[in-house]
Amino acid sequence: MEGYDVEPAGGSASFTRSKRANMKVWIDQDLCTGDGLCEEIAPDVFTLLDDGLAYVKEGGKIFATAKGNPQGADGLANFADSQLDAVVESAEECPGECIFIEP
Ligand code: SF4
Repeated sequence: MEGYDVEPAGGSASFTRSKRANMKVWIDQDLCTGDGLCEEIAPDVFTLLDDGLAYVKEGGKIFATAKGNPQGADGLANFADSQLDAVVESAEECPGECIFIEP
């Protein structure tokens, strides 16, 4: 058994915030508008690069091919439980709807 338990969203777009698990996040850069909302809300998890697009990061590691790392669905960043609310808010506010949170 895995060490986490994530409930389905129950048919709505809402995310179960009460669950604490080791979650990961990635961005589909093809859909990113570059507005920077995610970086404003969760600067420890998201960053904008010179190309005007947002990328996920894990500590000092930025998941972008320009930084020598996989990006998009292949560039999954772990983030601390303490960041969960900010990451979920970023995903909800993201105008490109391109922030994806996975267990
Ligand atoms: S909020 Fe979404 S669209 Fe805006 S910069 Fe972040 S990932 Fe891109």
